[in-house]
Order: sequence, then C-alpha cells, then structure tokens
Amino acid sequence: MTPQAAYDELIKKCKEISVLGSAASILHWDQETYMPKNGVGHRSEQIGLIARMCHEQFVDPKIGELISAAEDSDLTKDPESEAAANLREIRHAYDKETKLPKDLVEALAKTTAQATPAWAEARKKSDFSEFLPWFEKVLDLTLQKAEAFGYEGEPYNALLDIYEPGATVEQVETAFDGLRKELVPLVQAIADARKRPDESIVTRSFDVDKQKIFGESVAAAMGYDFNAGRLDITTHPFCTGIGPGDTRILTRYNPNRLNDALFGTMHEAGHALYEMGLEKEKHFGTPMGESVSLGIHESQSRMWENQVGRSKDFWVYFLPQAQRIFRESLGDVSLDDFYGAINTVKPSYIRVEADEATYNLHIMLRFELERAMTKKEIKPKDMAGEWNKRFKEYLGIEVDKDANGVLQDVHWSSGLIGYFPTYALGNLYAAQFFAQAKKDLPGLQEDFQHGNFSRLLDWLRKNIHHHGQRYRANVLCEKVTGEPLSHKPLMDYMKAKYGEIYGI
Ligand code: ZN
Repeated sequence: MTPQAAYDELIKKCKEISVLGSAASILHWDQETYMPKNGVGHRSEQIGLIARMCHEQFVDPKIGELISAAEDSDLTKDPESEAAANLREIRHAYDKETKLPKDLVEALAKTTAQATPAWAEARKKSDFSEFLPWFEKVLDLTLQKAEAFGYEGEPYNALLDIYEPGATVEQVETAFDGLRKELVPLVQAIADARKRPDESIVTRSFDVDKQKIFGESVAAAMGYDFNAGRLDITTHPFCTGIGPGDTRILTRYNPNRLNDALFGTMHEAGHALYEMGLEKEKHFGTPMGESVSLGIHESQSRMWENQVGRSKDFWVYFLPQAQRIFRESLGDVSLDDFYGAINTVKPSYIRVEADEATYNLHIMLRFELERAMTKKEIKPKDMAGEWNKRFKEYLGIEVDKDANGVLQDVHWSSGLIGYFPTYALGNLYAAQFFAQAKKDLPGLQEDFQHGNFSRLLDWLRKNIHHHGQRYRANVLCEKVTGEPLSHKPLMDYMKAKYGEIYGI
C-alpha cells in the first residue's frame, strides 16, 4: 500500500468514526434540553454504546498500521501541511488511547460514576471527609493513567497533555507566576478602592422572554448563524459542534440578573463561532477540522464575552437597544454606570460565579493544588486545609465551609485532573490575541460602537479558526502574535480597565 493510499484510507475511517460520534453529541444535546427525565437510563446506554463503538474502531490495530504506512513519507515532509498535521495528531490520539490498559479504563469509568454522586452528597452536607475515600481512589487511578501515558518530568505533564496537547507544567507555571505577582495586588487595590460601581443595576427585574430576544440579537450581531445553529435553555450551559452546518448553543436565564444569560450566551456563541469557522465541510472528522485545544477554545469564548462584551465600545451600540427592551429597569442608566455594573470585581467563593479579574486566581489555586497532589507533596486528606489557606492568601477571604471551598467543582470526582489550567490559559490567549487584532486592525473598537464585529471575526477565522489543528497552541500563539504566551497582555488590559472603573 502506498503512503497516499494508506493516508486516504485512514482519513476515511476517521471521518466515519466522527460521524458516529456526532450521533452521540446530538443525543447528549437532547438529554440536556428536551428529553423527558425518565429517559435517562436508556439514554446513557445509547451514549455508552456509541462511545464504546468509536473507541473500538479507533484502537483497531489496522488504524495503527495505516498511520505507520503514511507517517514517514513525502506526506509529512512539510510539517505544516494538512497531511502532516493530520498524521501528527491522529498518531498522538492513537498512542494515547492504545496505551491505556482496558482494566484501568473500566476502573476509572466505574469509580468516577460512583465518586460523582458521592461528591454531590458530600457537597450537600458540606463534609469533605465523606468525599475523601473516593477522592483518594480517583487520584490513585489518575496517577496510574499518567504512568500509562508516560511523561517527561512529572506526572502532571501527562494529564495536562490530555486537554492542552503539547503544553507543559513549566509553560503554565511561568505564565501563572507572572500573572499572580501582578493580579493579587490589583485585586487588593480594587478591594481598597473608594470609587465603587453600583452592581445593583444589573440585578433589577429582566423579563426572560425579552432577555432571549436581546441575547439572540447580540449573538447574530457577533456573526452566529442561526441557519447553522440554535439557542436553547439548559441547566449547565455549553456549546456543541455536532457537524458541518450544525453548532448549537445553550444558556440559562435568571429574571433578576442580566449578566448570567447575556454574557453566558456571548461566551457560548464565541465557542460556536470557532466551531463554525473550522473548515468542516472539507475536514470534518480529521484534526484539520478540529479545534486546537481547550485553552484555545476558551480563548475564543472569553474574548467575545470579555474583551468585546464587557467593553464600553460594545455598549455604546447595545445599551440604547437594551434600554428600549428593558425600559423599566435600564431606562435611567448612564453608559458609565452600566459599564461599571457589568464589570464589578468582588472576591467570592465560587469559581463559576467569579468576575473577570478574580477568576484566574481561582484557577491558579487549583493548578497548584493538583500539581502538588500528583507529586505527592499534598495528601488528599490535607486538601481542604490547604485549599482554605491559599484561598485566604489569594482572594483575601476566609472559606466558611467545604461546599464553598474544596467541594465546589465536579472535576475531581469525574477524574478531570489537569483540566483546570485550560480555563486560565484561555483568558491569557484571549488577551494576547485581542491585543494583536487591535494592532492589525486599526479602529477595531470603533467598529464595536456601530455594532460591527465582522472585521474581528474575519481576523479570527483567518488567523485561528481556518487552521484547525495545523499548529499546537503555543506555536499558533507565536505565529499569530509573534510572541510566546505571556501574562502581560492580560495584565495590561485589566490594569487599564479597572484603573478607570475603580479610579486606581
Ligand atoms: Zn467556555
């Protein structure tokens, strides 16, 4: 078989597996939106069966033979070519999936399936000791997983690589260290500031039907194509790229808080624009038609949510529209007051409710704890105490109970250790990309004042979306911005923004 024939066969198989996998995506979407409650048992069987079929087809030794027959050939001579990128990433995924012993996969699935409800119960009672035995088991199996994958340096590298391929602990640590040094004092200065925005403006009454109309008009202005997607309601919002021409977003509404659905919708629409910008017609089911990493995906959602949606320029255009829709609640509000209200910074316990500035501190705390735990420098039993100690150092508040501390996130019970850093990496990449977009596109923010986002979207498509997985995240960052990932663009952006809002 020629390398080209092997490659063609491999791509055909990968596309078939992805088509099958996308059927599970639609089942999952249905489960989170319209499925009747009692359908859950059968639904998990359906999704489980498809996942197993996809896995079995992908780890078939035949796939390994096709990769081997294609990878050391003229096809990969140019490492940036489509074929080279596809082969590099298919090899990466294949090695990962085939390295895990079957027993370990099953033990992990079984343990996390029990650990998750145990965590939910422990959180309800706010009792970490009840979750501890499960936490120890999950950690032990996760470390076995890291050993099976293999790593350089420390086990955390193997775990990080699952979610952010190619990223290393050293890279993350460098970026986070720089960020911490400047962010902790900034959050402190904000806490001490005399000038304070009035957050109550966004906690007035906002009719849910009207919020939906407004949210849809914002998503459409961003470039979200409702002929290739839809917006529905769910409890835990997400975006799902089902296939070419079908990328759906979900949100939830709070009648007494404008921010939740509005910025939540912008966030998910930002993820969706990335999915819509991938060249799926041509590359669906192959790495060239897929997003780079969770960090890069998050950079797209955060940029639309924060750099665009929480900017004053954006509200020059959208506040008058919001005032027409929510006349009673926003009719009397000035642009500056509204801008301050949507950008209030207030240290709080819960990560998912955190503002733009303190959010990254929540992530850095988890990264440090996870890393120390995988190096066995912290034992699971000491986690609650360690958490509370560092939380006080970073956010300046005393954790009152485990439910508001170490037990707040589902990740550890579901075996997602190594995942958290991608959230903060997303914020760092977002700021660095946006700073570059402003350089490349003079007058970009004036566009926002006219409700025009097409130059930004075109720039993102050309520089990021169209490449699929041609480049790993760190390489992409250097290609687009000329610099490796740094905390500086994010800190420059936050210092300027909060300096104005808080007069510091
Ligand atoms: Zn996101």
